[in-house]
Amino acid sequence: MSAKRPHTPASKLPKLKGRVPDQLYRCGGCGRHLYSTERRCAFCGVDLAKVEKQQAKARAQAEAALATLAKLFG
Ligand SMILES: [Zn+2]
Repeated sequence: MSAKRPHTPASKLPKLKGRVPDQLYRCGGCGRHLYSTERRCAFCGVDLAKVEKQQAKARAQAEAALATLAKLFG
């Protein structure tokens, strides 16, 4: 005797609606949303790690500029 139990398919899991899940990542190249597990943008083909590095560099430059301004006005 064998009791067969059907597996619940993943597609039956509840869907999130009206909310962007945390796993979504915004492409720095085209601004579309992608899964954070992607290495490359599926839309514009940009290398996400590369874009992230460029953004970190730009952010560091902006922070340095702000620090300079703070010194001038401090
Ligand atoms: Zn893109």
